[in-house]
Amino acid sequence: MDKKKTNEIIDTDKKKISEIVDTDKKKISEIVGMDKKKISEIVDILENRFPNARCELNYQTPFELLVAVILSAQCTDKRVNAVTAELFKKYSSPQDFCRIEIGELERLLYPVGFYRNKAAAVKAAAEMVSTRFSGVVPNELDELTQIPGVGRKTANVILSEAFHKNAFAVDTHVLRTADRLGIDKSGDPVKVEKSVTGLLDENRLGRAHILFVFFGRYVCVAKKPKCGECPVDRYCEYLKNAE
Ligand code: SF4
Repeated sequence: MDKKKTNEIIDTDKKKISEIVDTDKKKISEIVGMDKKKISEIVDILENRFPNARCELNYQTPFELLVAVILSAQCTDKRVNAVTAELFKKYSSPQDFCRIEIGELERLLYPVGFYRNKAAAVKAAAEMVSTRFSGVVPNELDELTQIPGVGRKTANVILSEAFHKNAFAVDTHVLRTADRLGIDKSGDPVKVEKSVTGLLDENRLGRAHILFVFFGRYVCVAKKPKCGECPVDRYCEYLKNAE
């Protein structure tokens, strides 16, 4: 084959490949655009349904929020608030929690369950904040996650709630509702966080977290979701698959 023909074939193939890539790019951007619209509409609807939704843990400072979130593992916010109402009267700062006797802390935390583990986690967190961060709760994800008892979810809650940063925390309610609504079906909290942060305006992320938590807590509950009163049932893949 002469050189001219070879070049013609190569040029034709290049053109075909670039057409395929362009078509795929267009399809991807259409899908992303559709998903962006969908999640934004879902958040709008949930905002109408839960206009007064807010973080249900009571706290005055970022460190109190950190303690409350640690205590909230497998415990209701109501019970945590009952315990912290007394606890924070006497102990509030990281220094206070460094000084408290572990036995005394365990006694105070008994009603929230797993009190030994939680007391140890609160003490360890207080010591880390006091020593490594000079008594000030950091406001960066990678620093927060160095604190014992603070995983990515807790760190994102603290960032958005205490520091008003654009962060999206994925807890069990968010994971479940994102799956049922087909926003992200991976079941992986980090992937769900990335999907939502990639699709939703960043200034809506903190609010979206609270709304999804309320939705998961009061309507799209784990067992027997209340589909009859669901305001976003038209988007629900779980319901479609059940039909
Ligand atoms: S229709 Fe039911 S399962 Fe689907 S999102 Fe609503 S409450 Fe959840």
